[in-house]
Amino acid sequence: MKVLVLNCGSSSLKYQLINMNTEEVLAKGVAERIGIEDAFVKHEAIGKDKVIIEENMGTHKSAIRIVLDCLVHPQHGAIKEMNEIAAVGHRVVHGGEKFAQSVIINDEVKKTLEECSELAPLHNPPNLMGIYACEEILPNVPMVGVFDTAFHQTMPKSSYLYALPYELYDKYKIRRYGFHGTSHKYVAMKAAEVLGKPIEELKMVTCHLGNGASVAAVDGGKSVDTSMGFTPLEGLVMGTRCGDIDPAIVTFIMEKEHISSSDVNNIMNKKSGVLGISGVSNDFRDIEGAAASGNERAQLALDVYYKRVKKYIGAYAAEMGGLDAVIFTAGLGENSPETREEVCNNLDFLGIKIDAGKNKVRGKETIVSTEDSKVKVLLIPTNEELMIARETKELLK
Ligand code: AMP
Repeated sequence: MKVLVLNCGSSSLKYQLINMNTEEVLAKGVAERIGIEDAFVKHEAIGKDKVIIEENMGTHKSAIRIVLDCLVHPQHGAIKEMNEIAAVGHRVVHGGEKFAQSVIINDEVKKTLEECSELAPLHNPPNLMGIYACEEILPNVPMVGVFDTAFHQTMPKSSYLYALPYELYDKYKIRRYGFHGTSHKYVAMKAAEVLGKPIEELKMVTCHLGNGASVAAVDGGKSVDTSMGFTPLEGLVMGTRCGDIDPAIVTFIMEKEHISSSDVNNIMNKKSGVLGISGVSNDFRDIEGAAASGNERAQLALDVYYKRVKKYIGAYAAEMGGLDAVIFTAGLGENSPETREEVCNNLDFLGIKIDAGKNKVRGKETIVSTEDSKVKVLLIPTNEELMIARETKELLK
């Protein structure tokens, strides 16, 4: 069974074709600058040369057509005919309160997703564009929606409710949703496998530290709390997002700087985080480099970042009443030994002891804590595409 996984952004589309009999990636790539000039598709069928197709694509539909042409291309393709694609799995950012699991996409699901667009105006509309485009181009191929929010729907109300007037929850569904759910679920399952223990018996904190970043408390395989909230702005310090701040700062800045709500939103989402503090970059490679050559603000950005992650680990250990494992994943979590070390530093009192030698590793599934560490620390590379393909296969069984 071959599953095409699609992740549609506003002007980009990432894809992977996965053979689900072996879980082997057959081809992958990305279409960029959709609806803008100089669009292109970067495509690679595994074992063949990479190709770049420069062709303007006004819509997601034209991008998907080019991707499908690449997949069946006699030289750089991965399959002979389009009908080898058994299903399409779509990443969908927001499933609201309606979707606690992945679903087969039908008319009712599409209608509900349209309604959820209000909750994720930047993400859900392009996800839906991908769904509508596939429906036209591959009319007989079943499609599944896999939601970033679904894994966190197991949170108890005491974790997801904000201390605002309750009517605002009733009226607008203002509550914590949490994101990166597919990644938190994948790494939690994988970690249980690596530790050789049933997931039901483990209390874990999963740290997805990429350009966007979030932490989740996973108790017995279920998300019981997570740091992102109503939107992906809450929680950790991120590349360009501020994470937790005193909400009173929002109106204070608006009044002092005479700016609108969208301006202040722009500051908090695009100009803050480690970029805002360091003034150097939103990329941790640049910031680590600048800090190493003595840039104090770059070092400060890193210190604020590490402290926030540490704070959440402590909070979630307290919330779950114990801790068996801490898992690091995503761009920074997988590739920065320094981040893992700094976050775990001084947490011996919780039973966390990182092994400096074992921790000198990148992008590899491994345990990086000492033999006698009560709490295991693991590096688990995330694989959201495989998780989406697995859920798609499972639903279509
Ligand atoms: P992601 O969103 O998961 O793709 O993560 C992207 C981020 O991971 C980048 O913006 C970098 O800040 C960080 N990153 C990737 N590779 C490295 C590395 N070798 N060292 C430090 N940070 C890295």
